[in-house]
Amino acid sequence: MRSNTNDFNALLAAVKAIASNTAAPEAADVDARARFPQATVQALRSAQLLSAPVPLELGGARLTLRELAQLCAVLAQACGSSAMVLAMHYIQVACLARHGLGAEFFRHYLQELVREQLLLSSMTSENGTFGETRTSICAVERADGRFTLRKDATTGSYCAESDAILVTARRAPDAAGSDQVLVLVRKGDYTLTQTSSWDTLGMRGTCSPGFKLDAAAPEEQILPGSFADSSAQSMVPYSHVLWSSLWWGIAADAVARAGECVRTSARKNPGTVPPTALRLAEVTTQLQALRHSWQQLAGEFDDINAGGDGMQQLLSISWALKMNNLKISASEAAPQIVHKALQIAGIVAYKNDTRFSLGRHYRDVLSASLMISNERIAAKNAAMLLVLKET
Ligand SMILES: Cc1cc2nc3c(=O)[nH]c(=O)nc-3n(C[C@H](O)[C@H](O)[C@H](O)COP(=O)(O)OP(=O)(O)OC[C@H]3O[C@@H](n4cnc5c(N)ncnc54)[C@H](O)[C@@H]3O)c2cc1C
Repeated sequence: MRSNTNDFNALLAAVKAIASNTAAPEAADVDARARFPQATVQALRSAQLLSAPVPLELGGARLTLRELAQLCAVLAQACGSSAMVLAMHYIQVACLARHGLGAEFFRHYLQELVREQLLLSSMTSENGTFGETRTSICAVERADGRFTLRKDATTGSYCAESDAILVTARRAPDAAGSDQVLVLVRKGDYTLTQTSSWDTLGMRGTCSPGFKLDAAAPEEQILPGSFADSSAQSMVPYSHVLWSSLWWGIAADAVARAGECVRTSARKNPGTVPPTALRLAEVTTQLQALRHSWQQLAGEFDDINAGGDGMQQLLSISWALKMNNLKISASEAAPQIVHKALQIAGIVAYKNDTRFSLGRHYRDVLSASLMISNERIAAKNAAMLLVLKET
């Protein structure tokens, strides 16, 4: 299913305007004060950008993964934290739009999300599971058509600011750790108690401390099916593509700043090519390769979904490996590119108060390899490669 090209072009123009008029001007303050990018998210709401992944018949724009990734990449060039908030929101909306359409509750909820431009956040992490998203300790307990859920999450980006949270939990108190469901809890269904701080090197505007969640809600708010499937078919592909696109965006802005430096020094000595121009040429090669990798896999995902047995293909080992490889390679490449941009621009980029400053880019992009640890993903890949039969 393709989106309406006019809708996409309008949303792309809107996100470009928000990036330059709102996100870029507030980025330094968001970073310095580790505060939520309120004005940027409000602008995204006003431009109807929060419902971009919702199907057309429910009032959304039904953008493809490749299109959503372009939006995140544009915003990341202005503010990495804002782009991460948008990406994490899109990941949650995609899970509902791809796995909840058979349930009346979720169809109505998505219509409400379109109308009200609701912001969704996520709680997959949990104290005691050590960053393994496919295991939960907490469990939903059902009685009389309702459930209760208590979770002790290590990290919950903008949970205090969002309108609802998607939470992973065991299906029942006697279920295995990997027998999980995804549960939607809406403001009013839960209380949050902050358990840790969020004074980090980067991605400071995502406001992601630990929280204890105490929730109770109707049973219909449990997403149909298993998290094993929605994770493989939606959460992982959307996460790895959208994160990669925004890491690219951060790196692209760093290279743009370095390029501006090189051109400034070239103008001072007409007729000569500054030595840094060669390094600039080199780093643009890496930047282009990174862009092609997320664009290519986003396109493959969209093509697979356009086919009849798309959801089945997304459960294959070879697809899981591709997605994991994208995450690992993008999260390793983006910091290297920012590092090279810093070497090219030199001291003006090392300083925090010039128009070439790269401190925020550098710190933001260092989160990439930790955000679901690359070591953990590599260990999963290693196990899958041992049993891989497909090529
Ligand atoms: C900016 C940002 C925003 C986030 N937002 C959210 C959010 O909104 N909701 C949410 O639930 N979570 C969020 N997270 C948390 C994320 O989902 C992970 O849970 C978290 O980054 C992993 O934490 P960890 O490094 O302590 O865990 P671990 O994965 O346990 O890693 C700890 C250490 O163990 C090593 N390690 C792990 N597995 C292996 C292995 N198999 N072999 C060898 N070494 C291994 C790692 O390299 C690392 O050194 C966010 C994280 C970041 C950085």
